[in-house]
Amino acid sequence: MVALVDVRRLTPRTDAVLADSRLAAAEQRLGRPIVLSAVRRAQEQARSGQIEPASVADAAVADLPPLAATLTPVINATGVLLHTNLGRAPLSAAAREAVLAAAGNTDVEFDLISGQRGRRGRGMLTALAARVPAAEAVHVVNNNAAALVLAATALAAGGREIVMSRGELIEIGDGFRLPELLESTGARIREVGTTNRTTAGDYAGAIGPQTAFVLKVHPSNYRIEGFTAGASVAELAGLSVPVIGDIGSGLLAPHPLLPDEPDAGSWLAAGAALVTASGDKLLGGPQAGLVLGQADLVARLARHPLARALRVDKMTVAALEATLAGPRAPVALQLEASQDELISRARRIAGSLETLDIDVRVEQSEAAVGGGGAPGVGLPSAAVSLPAELAAELRSGAAVRAGSLPAVVGRIENGRLLLDLHAVPAADDELLTAAVAAAAS
Ligand SMILES: *Cc1c(COP(=O)(O)O)cnc(C)c1O
Repeated sequence: MVALVDVRRLTPRTDAVLADSRLAAAEQRLGRPIVLSAVRRAQEQARSGQIEPASVADAAVADLPPLAATLTPVINATGVLLHTNLGRAPLSAAAREAVLAAAGNTDVEFDLISGQRGRRGRGMLTALAARVPAAEAVHVVNNNAAALVLAATALAAGGREIVMSRGELIEIGDGFRLPELLESTGARIREVGTTNRTTAGDYAGAIGPQTAFVLKVHPSNYRIEGFTAGASVAELAGLSVPVIGDIGSGLLAPHPLLPDEPDAGSWLAAGAALVTASGDKLLGGPQAGLVLGQADLVARLARHPLARALRVDKMTVAALEATLAGPRAPVALQLEASQDELISRARRIAGSLETLDIDVRVEQSEAAVGGGGAPGVGLPSAAVSLPAELAAELRSGAAVRAGSLPAVVGRIENGRLLLDLHAVPAADDELLTAAVAAAAS
């Protein structure tokens, strides 16, 4: 009892702790509330006898987060190239630099020559149009879901109909379903065909005075196989209403490794009036929704009042332009990584972990593009295989919490933790090795 009263009395006061030069410096960098809560936690530890009263400042310093924001950098060793929970596509170095440069004041909507208001994100729009010559006009919103909402609102609100195949009424994730999203605008979905078979005739039979457009959606996260039939964009383009195509992934042109994945250029050339896509899937850029196609329809979307609520911010504008105009995106390079190259990287990593007292192996594995596209396509890959017990430490061990190492997220397979290298940039191999060494020690 006496001891407890003593430590209470001896625990240094808040203002005395905050005067520590390290904490004063941290206050400049992180702000007062964050530093204050670290100090309060340390004082609490002293009062409960977990640390010496004299160590309160040291404990608070050790407990400071690395940044004022809590997002933790992660090495994506899941083998899923586009992992929505891990922020989908990593930006290229060029895009990161562009984001940083755009973070202050910029001419995002200002013409420096005339000194007047300019077109918002014109460099980004020019770069997008240049990559897809089949598009008469382009527009960019916050994500693909926003592009679809904008199209439905501008073209089909007030109970007009969007004709869709029953095989394409998809849930995009986390309980969000495209038909419900579209109906939330006041449009109505007119379902045609069956789950496995829908023909051009089914669409034609459903078109009437209430039809706003036909929506063709790429089933980007599942595949229907067996007795199936679908209508191509080219077949649907002959109908009397516009065809809008949601390609999902954001491929702008065909990709030889993904022959079944639709791309914006091909669907527009086949007669789609508009194509919508995500910016942060196979395009490899920031979260964004791309709208490409006929000039009159793009203008109706871009001039609709809702467009103001869906517009992209300056950092997205910068990252998307640099992704479109700059070097190839990390996702594009990772997609093409050869298994031999991945195996030799895995061997090198395993080799430098040899001295640790853990069972490290190299395994062949199969990676995937992810919910963002190419369902069912396996990418031959390689993984460093570790005891499964290391998974938690790699995700959230002391070094991760201190910000000195990124978190590593792998996948558990057959009771082992696989660190699949397909989505890990080669430049991160050393960090990955250091993270495993720290977790195992
Ligand atoms: C991913 C996806 C969406 C949603 O795109 P976000 O950019 O995440 O809003 C919509 N449609 C398809 C076909 C998709 O693959």
